[in-house]
Amino acid sequence: MNELYSSVPYEHPAWIEVDLKKFKENIAAIRDYVNHKKLCIPIKANAYGHGLIPIAKAAVEAGVEYLAVSCLQEALLLRRANIHCAILVLGPIYPNQIEYFLKHNLDITISSLAKAQYVVNAFNALNYSTPIKIHVEIETGMQRTGVRIDSSQALFDFIDQHPFLYVTGVYTHLATADDRHSTFTIRQIQLFLSFMEQAKKRYPRAIFHVANSGGTYYFPQAHLDMVRPGKLAFGYYVTEHPLTQPIFSIKARISYFKVVEKGMGISYLHQFVTSKKTRIVTVPIGYGDGYRRALSNKGEVLINGKRYPIVGIICMDQLMVDIGDDSAYVGDEVVLVGQQGNEKMTLEELAELCGTVSSEILVNFNERLPHLYLDGENTHWEFNILKGTTSNS
Ligand SMILES: *Cc1c(COP(=O)(O)O)cnc(C)c1O
Repeated sequence: MNELYSSVPYEHPAWIEVDLKKFKENIAAIRDYVNHKKLCIPIKANAYGHGLIPIAKAAVEAGVEYLAVSCLQEALLLRRANIHCAILVLGPIYPNQIEYFLKHNLDITISSLAKAQYVVNAFNALNYSTPIKIHVEIETGMQRTGVRIDSSQALFDFIDQHPFLYVTGVYTHLATADDRHSTFTIRQIQLFLSFMEQAKKRYPRAIFHVANSGGTYYFPQAHLDMVRPGKLAFGYYVTEHPLTQPIFSIKARISYFKVVEKGMGISYLHQFVTSKKTRIVTVPIGYGDGYRRALSNKGEVLINGKRYPIVGIICMDQLMVDIGDDSAYVGDEVVLVGQQGNEKMTLEELAELCGTVSSEILVNFNERLPHLYLDGENTHWEFNILKGTTSNS
């Protein structure tokens, strides 16, 4: 740990809490639900804001076969942390990156003939001897990346001319599976299945995979050899009968208390004015931590197991809460996301107020907030907040 910071008693005014035990239970629940098919857990974007390395380690402990990330850099962070499991990079590859994919045994997504050509050129230039694991991405309706079925023949012929290109997987991505009634999803799955019938003969050992969270939960015919649920694994999948639990909370401690007279404007621009004498507490978290400014005068927080409104504009580092005639003290815990007593503040609720989805709210929380990881009896902090420090216990 960095000398300067390690000697400073660091009080955590606001922090993210992640329950790794629950995360592992979520993975076990998904594994049962898909009848023990292979699991690939997407942990892109800092594991949906939960923290890349601790989540990756927990997923490996829970026995997942694959981790998926978006780009080379995320994959290298995992390898640097001694995570040895199979890693699929879903996103783009660039010619000058190929050697890193090879050296670090990363599975490459091939979504066009041109990309297969880069890989072959890099392989030849590097004089490599071990085969390269590739997953061919097929376009079936997302219109993002992936080779069209009608032009895939040329790609597969090219691959077969280069035996060191080892087809480990073949996959596609569902565009509308979060809607359980989506007939388009059924069409996408059927398209892939009929393609698979032929492709399985050519690559009998390849892993065929399709299902994101929606595919996993709503479309069992999409389970195939492996599923790739992200939101579902993190507990953000809104259903009447949730299969998994959220594992993410945001907490803070009240930093200031005061009584304010009637008619006083609160925070920047005085967009909130007290309608009576009331008690206002200040909470040391703001949009600089990723707590969205759009929640000004709309969001609520939990104190002593009760909901209270955020009043006035949310500042970069602080926000104000009106507790009316109730009592609260400096140092009391505030829950901005998560549970306190019997009351819950869900990410879905915040997402709704901001006009977005829970994943976007999650990934917006940033590294200024330290993470507290809970795993049964074990807890540990990660402070990325202060660059140069690492985790402590
Ligand atoms: C992000 C992603 C997933 C996971 O999506 P969720 O909706 O979070 O389950 C699966 N597959 C690919 C290719 C992705 O990009």
